[in-house]
Amino acid sequence: MPYTADSNRYNTMTYARSGKSGLLLPKIALGLWQNFGDTYLYSNAHDVVLRSFDLGITHFDLANNYGPPAGTAETTFGRILREDLAPYRDELVISTKAGYYMWPGPYGDWGSRKYLTASLDQSLRRMGLDYVDIFYHHRPDPNTPLEETMGALDHAVRSGKAMYAGISNYSPEQTRNAARILRELGTPCVIHQPSYNMFNRWVEDGLLKTVGEEGIGCIVFSPLAQGLLTNRYLSGTPADSRIGHGSAFLNESALSQDKISRVKQLNAIAEARGQSLAQMAVTWILRNPEITTVLIGASKVAQVEELVGGLGFAALSADELAKIDAILKA
Ligand code: NDP
Repeated sequence: MPYTADSNRYNTMTYARSGKSGLLLPKIALGLWQNFGDTYLYSNAHDVVLRSFDLGITHFDLANNYGPPAGTAETTFGRILREDLAPYRDELVISTKAGYYMWPGPYGDWGSRKYLTASLDQSLRRMGLDYVDIFYHHRPDPNTPLEETMGALDHAVRSGKAMYAGISNYSPEQTRNAARILRELGTPCVIHQPSYNMFNRWVEDGLLKTVGEEGIGCIVFSPLAQGLLTNRYLSGTPADSRIGHGSAFLNESALSQDKISRVKQLNAIAEARGQSLAQMAVTWILRNPEITTVLIGASKVAQVEELVGGLGFAALSADELAKIDAILKA
């Protein structure tokens, strides 16, 4: 049966402007870093993406190297687009990135114009797209002039292969410099993608202020600390979890007794609010006015449903925020 999107999909999700741009993004976006490559079930990836769209998630985040193997998350997404979402292309904001290792030799990594331009062409081919909505430089490159990297983003936009330019994992100073260069080129930096969650608060030390002052939107990744800030690991490691799968990016060493004890204390605060811990982790992030969107990952449809359902909860009170701070700083 051909897919038909839920006609209620825009009734509950809220959308926020990315910085000072015209681009509106859903408060929750879905990332395809894990769980969408060739080593995972296509039918599950398909269901998670389509259910997300039915819930008003219009923004899907990819990168050249997502899989595993690298590239296959884009191939999966390309198939879902081709078979199901093609009629909705103009309702979707699809992003990709280049900046990490992708192919051997001197032109498959970091930040040269050569690498970024070739990588974007490859991403477009894998997804079967004429353009992506956002093209990011994935991480700063200490050895390539920033002018060259930003020039490559500007070129991507001017050539019609990307609508908007973004940066990821840039420090406050690198962000200011990138924003200035892009402004001078006439292609504004529309969005920054840093990591942020209760266990990783580096953006509070200058980056949020910087994006606010520069008028750049902010979409934060790993809001649940890859699943640690959920009920997933409260009583052992489930076989179907990221750690249970043997992820290269999260393993048992993340589950120290101290960490689990903090997660349990945070979970108690969430329960007292009638929320799940995963929902509270998102509520906590969205207390920052500079943050446009929370970029989640998911291995199951129910996880997306739970997180979108959590957007309706009240903001955390000063007392709850103080209790959370005390747990995190103890
Ligand atoms: P999260 O912190 O949201 O972790 C996602 C994992 O949390 C899921 O796979 C699932 O784990 C678990 N989870 C999600 N919802 C729930 C729930 N309701 N209840 C219980 N567990 C839940 O994000 P990710 O680390 O996956 O990153 C999200 C996205 O951010 C990526 O897909 C990518 O697009 C982007 N990203 C960008 C980076 C960059 O350098 N720019 C780097 C890393 C990510 P399980 O699989 O165990 O079920």
